[in-house]
Amino acid sequence: MNVPSVAPARPLGVLAALPEELGDLLAAMRAGSGVVTHTLGRRDYHVGTVHGAPCVVTLARIGKVAAAATASALIHAFDVDAIVFTGVAGGVGPDVRIGDVVVGDTLLQHDMNASPLFPCFEIPLLGRARFDADAMLAAALADACERFIAEEGAALAARFNTATPRVHRGLVISGDQFVASAQAVGALRSLLPEALAVEMEGAAIAQVCHEYDVPCAVVRTISDTADEHASASFESFLAELAGSYSTGILKRFLAGYGRASGSR
Ligand code: SAH
Repeated sequence: MNVPSVAPARPLGVLAALPEELGDLLAAMRAGSGVVTHTLGRRDYHVGTVHGAPCVVTLARIGKVAAAATASALIHAFDVDAIVFTGVAGGVGPDVRIGDVVVGDTLLQHDMNASPLFPCFEIPLLGRARFDADAMLAAALADACERFIAEEGAALAARFNTATPRVHRGLVISGDQFVASAQAVGALRSLLPEALAVEMEGAAIAQVCHEYDVPCAVVRTISDTADEHASASFESFLAELAGSYSTGILKRFLAGYGRASGSR
């Protein structure tokens, strides 16, 4: 019997909410190792190797419950080594502009409030409001983003008529609402002045990963500024640019991740 001397590397879970946010990842997987698809809980989990990294790629759909359920399935049914989320978000930080990229170092659920029983934002019975991304994964993602922007940022900025994109790292906040008014984003800014971006999934995934000791990281491209223009800006950014960002960032990140997991 042939017993492999090295156990095969456990896969990385790669997650987005919407198909545009995966860029060319599934096409690249199909062209590489090929794809085996498993359907579970009304989601398709695509298993294969892409850019040298063994991955399970799927769509969470939108919101915290959808994201938590998907992260849980990645952990329990697919035994992933870690989870990376890629997608778009609304800009909240004063220097965060459309087309910039935010890598979450810390994530928080801005709509969790069981006060006065628990402090505002704290997850009841878990004793914390903030969940840290894995430091090494977040650093590797930020590095991939920096290289992507250095190599392709000027061309992207010209296409969407924006300034050359920048990479930010810090707090990403999540809640079950599309934030689309100056008043709503202003309220978030005054409650959480260090927040850089708002979205609807990241902190839910970070909570599940914390509970199961699975490393995770979140990268978000800014599609809108969470104000009255958010809906139109989100739609056009998603259609025109979200895929190019995810393609460029994941290609660079996964090539490094594949090399590292191959050498473990
Ligand atoms: N109209 C879309 C739904 C968009 S929800 C549809 O029907 O498919 C917005 C998605 O992008 C969520 O997955 C969320 O994580 C992210 N997002 C982008 N901008 C956001 C904002 N301003 N507020 C909250 N989430 C935002």
